[in-house]
This record gives sequence, structure tokens and C-alpha cells, in this order.
Amino acid sequence: MDSSTLCLFDVDGTLTAPRLRLTPDMAEFLHHLRIRLRVGVVGGSGLSTIKEQLGDDVIQKMDYVFAENGLVAYKNGKLLSVQSIQAHMGEELLQDFINFCLSYMAKIKLPRKRGTFIEFRNGMLNICPVGHSCTQEERKEFYKLDQDEKIREKFVSVLKEEFKAKGLSFSIGGQTSFDVFPDGWDKRFCLGTVEKDNYSIIHFFGDKTKPGGNDYEIYCDPRTIGHEVSCPEDTRRLCQQLFFS
Ligand SMILES: [Mg+2]
Repeated sequence: MDSSTLCLFDVDGTLTAPRLRLTPDMAEFLHHLRIRLRVGVVGGSGLSTIKEQLGDDVIQKMDYVFAENGLVAYKNGKLLSVQSIQAHMGEELLQDFINFCLSYMAKIKLPRKRGTFIEFRNGMLNICPVGHSCTQEERKEFYKLDQDEKIREKFVSVLKEEFKAKGLSFSIGGQTSFDVFPDGWDKRFCLGTVEKDNYSIIHFFGDKTKPGGNDYEIYCDPRTIGHEVSCPEDTRRLCQQLFFS
């Protein structure tokens, strides 16, 4: 057991297909990996989504679970810390921002719109023009349209202009939404927690490691060795190479 090495994994696109569950193969791989070294997950979603994807007992099965980019942190099965965006931003700015997003989305015409356009999380807002309650098919349809028409990219650039100098960062991840959070509250946030545990090597694996992707900052951070992966099978293959050969 190498307890001086930590592997941190993104969830969507890295351990599971977007929004889907961990496959039995990937579960077995993680189990074997954790016998060798320390393992943590850092997802952009809330804990309930991470549990849906990685299992109800994910907190027991990992050394660390960082939900919402690490703003909700679990270690060894116990809650360590929670950050709140409302305390940080203040109600005034928060409401101006939400109102602006709702009115912007009210003016977008899409082939389909469903429900839950803004998800309020502890440390971020997640904005979803098609609505989170869309089906997997509707999600794919939006993603395809977004690739052609850059709906999310344009939305984010309008928000950057409207709320410049307000200390907000934006990150496009997954297929249908983007995240908004205070500057620095990206996935690097979790490194503050793991730093206290003095690992000599921290590997990070993610699929959105290009500028603007939600893994970019932690992937580039000097405290981690960043690995770009294209899908769960790729993650497994790379780890086999790094740790089992
Ligand atoms: Mg991902």
C-alpha cells in the first residue's frame, strides 16, 4: 500500500459515461486501485448526483469524495467541510445574477425545453438552458445543437461582460450546462484539503482539461500530475499502465 500517492478522479466522462452509472468493470478497477494507493473523486455535481453515479456507499468506498468541486468535502466517510455561495456573494448580487440568467434563457428558442434551469448548490450555480429534467435523448440533442451554435459559450461571454469585476468564474462542463462560482472555487479547491495530508504525489485524471473545461485548473496546477482521458475505459487503461505494470 502506497499511502503517499493519491489519485483524484473527475466523475463524468472519466469514471462514468456522462450522467450515467459506474459500470461493474470500473467499480472493480477502483476497488483494486484503492488497495494500492489512496483514491478520491472530485465532481462538479452535488453529492446526490455523485451517489447516483458511483453508488450510495461512495463515501465509504473512497478516501475522499469532493462534491461540487470540493466545496463539500468528505474524508474517510465523514463530512469535513461545506462552503456556501450565498455567504460569499451576498443576496443582492446573487439575485441580480439569477434574474439576469432567467431573463436571458427566456429569450432563447430551443427545439425542446424542460424544467430546472438553474440549480442552486452550496458553492456554485449550475445553469442549464435545456433544463435538468430533460431525458438522455433530449440531452444529446441539445449537446449536438450546442456544438454547432455555441449556445453555452455565447451565454457565458454575455455573463462575463455583464458581471465583470464581480469575482465570478465560469466553467462549461458536461453536455447541457455550465457552472458559475467565485474565483478560485474550481476543482483546485479540493487541493487545499488534501495538501494537509502531505501526499508526495497527487495524480489527477479528467476529460475536460482544455482551457474553459472544468478540469483545466486542477489539471494544470503544479500540485498535481495531470492526465487527460477520453472515457472511463481510457482512464482504466492509463491507470493500469501507471500503477499495475
Ligand atoms: Mg468530466
